[in-house]
Amino acid sequence: MYLLGEAEPAPSEARAHLAPKARAGRASGIERARTVTMQSVGIIGGGLAGSEAAWQAASRGVPVTLYEMRPVRPTAVHKTDRLAELVCSNSFRGDKLDNAVGLLKEEMRRLGSIVMRSADAARVPAGAALAVDREQFSRAMTQAIGTHPRITLVREEIPRVPRVFDGPVIIATGPLTSDSLSADIAAMVGSDHLYFYDAVSPIVLAETIDRSRVFRASRWGRSLRGARSDARSVGSLDPATERPVDPAAGCGVDDGEGDYLNCPFSKDEYERFFEALMSAERAPLHEFDQAKFFEGCLPIEVMASRGIDTLRFGPMKPVGLVDPRTGREPYAAVQLRQDNLAGDHFSLVGFQTQMKWGEQARVLKLIPGLENAEFVRFGMIHRNTYINGPTVLRETWQTKTRDDLFFAGQISGVEGYVESAASGLIAGRNAAALVRGEPLSVPPRTTAIGALAYYVSHAAPRNYQPTNITFGIISPLQPVAGRKVPRKKTERNVALSERALADLGAWMQAVNSPIHQFANSPIE
Ligand SMILES: Cc1cc2nc3c(=O)[nH]c(=O)nc-3n(C[C@H](O)[C@H](O)[C@H](O)COP(=O)(O)OP(=O)(O)OC[C@H]3O[C@@H](n4cnc5c(N)ncnc54)[C@H](O)[C@@H]3O)c2cc1C
Repeated sequence: MYLLGEAEPAPSEARAHLAPKARAGRASGIERARTVTMQSVGIIGGGLAGSEAAWQAASRGVPVTLYEMRPVRPTAVHKTDRLAELVCSNSFRGDKLDNAVGLLKEEMRRLGSIVMRSADAARVPAGAALAVDREQFSRAMTQAIGTHPRITLVREEIPRVPRVFDGPVIIATGPLTSDSLSADIAAMVGSDHLYFYDAVSPIVLAETIDRSRVFRASRWGRSLRGARSDARSVGSLDPATERPVDPAAGCGVDDGEGDYLNCPFSKDEYERFFEALMSAERAPLHEFDQAKFFEGCLPIEVMASRGIDTLRFGPMKPVGLVDPRTGREPYAAVQLRQDNLAGDHFSLVGFQTQMKWGEQARVLKLIPGLENAEFVRFGMIHRNTYINGPTVLRETWQTKTRDDLFFAGQISGVEGYVESAASGLIAGRNAAALVRGEPLSVPPRTTAIGALAYYVSHAAPRNYQPTNITFGIISPLQPVAGRKVPRKKTERNVALSERALADLGAWMQAVNSPIHQFANSPIE
């Protein structure tokens, strides 16, 4: 059985098992002194990244031992002992090829991602986004990983970066890496081991939302339910019968048109809400020495402090949301997204906050439609642990100093569920390649997954910030054979996606990926 221990095996015996590629790699002094047999892959952390990595390595015929510390040692945020638990939002974000995370997801599907397969199977309505029933998703992941014949799941905390083992190790312990392991990683990577903080959105009980005050619609009428659901028509034509809907039913009737519930604000209501938000008491940062928020995930009160209209141009922007009662866009709007398949929980989109819970109950009830809302979960502030990717990592997600040590997921310096799983996908493939003595490889920078790998290993190390995938980090389009680069952003994005998928296909062929033989096996 795979063992993560401190004792060194006999050098000659271990060398005999060393895969050729590993021997040929850039070995540090420590590594040359260490002895390694490449027989299996060890993965620490059974989150999005670790579970995907385990699946990918095992799918290549390599035995995997996956160490997950829950439930033996809980984290401050996870609630279950399941693998790949979604700790906050149930959204995997955009799912169309005109946005970068939609492209990343499509690439992962083509690479046989277990996270994508489980997410697609647990999909709930969310406009042009992919949102999932969180219970169903993590149950499917736990079952797929837990019953895989080549994966051994061990419920144990690993307190140190393993020095000796019988194959490559992937550290995928996420933003809430346990304290002892964090300290050991800090000792290993030095001052590049950093902390920053995010804040999470509250969730309300659906039956406590005042449906007479809210209306159902997706922005610009974009919906995954098939026909375009023009918000202007809500309350006028029944999409099934094409007959006029009873106007008395008004908005807020759950008519299936549009995937969000929208809480519309008048100017007065917005100003009242803004004042309450600005005067609300925030939770103290006593555990932390410094508050550094990730710009893409700012708490609403931090956004509000930048100016009265900041929220109206951010998470409360009303554009593309026509209130059927008035036929106009409201002054501002809060969107509520279905959070589980049963449809009894809705989360406030983009409403992460560090207000004290009592204050949240007071301030959020000023949102039209939420006057009597019951909160299933309040927003909160949380720690995020990550390494300085460009200083520590290569494009393969291996460390620069040790061929056999990988980081993946949020701790490797990416941001988000999908990006974390994507990094696990590449780390898992490459760790398996190391065991099998095959060349390590990463898709080209014209793909989303390759661009992410490049960013993590090549961005400017000074003030390094974890990233979500964006088209901005993918190699730009070049005019080819008389074909100009499209000037319109959406068309350009679609063209970037088309090129990415073509290049990914070519890469998969070139590395003679055996993925297809595994990609279609059903989740038990
Ligand atoms: C409160 C909070 C809210 C967030 N909200 C969002 C969001 O809404 N959307 C989004 O895209 N991202 C969000 N994130 C970021 C999110 O954590 C990542 O996107 C994703 O979960 C990262 O996947 P991961 O596999 O790297 O880490 P995780 O999913 O956290 O998995 C890491 C696993 O490692 C285990 N572990 C830790 N230390 C050890 C150890 N020493 N030994 C063994 N096991 C260990 C943990 O128990 C955990 O299961 C949030 C993070 C936090 C903390």
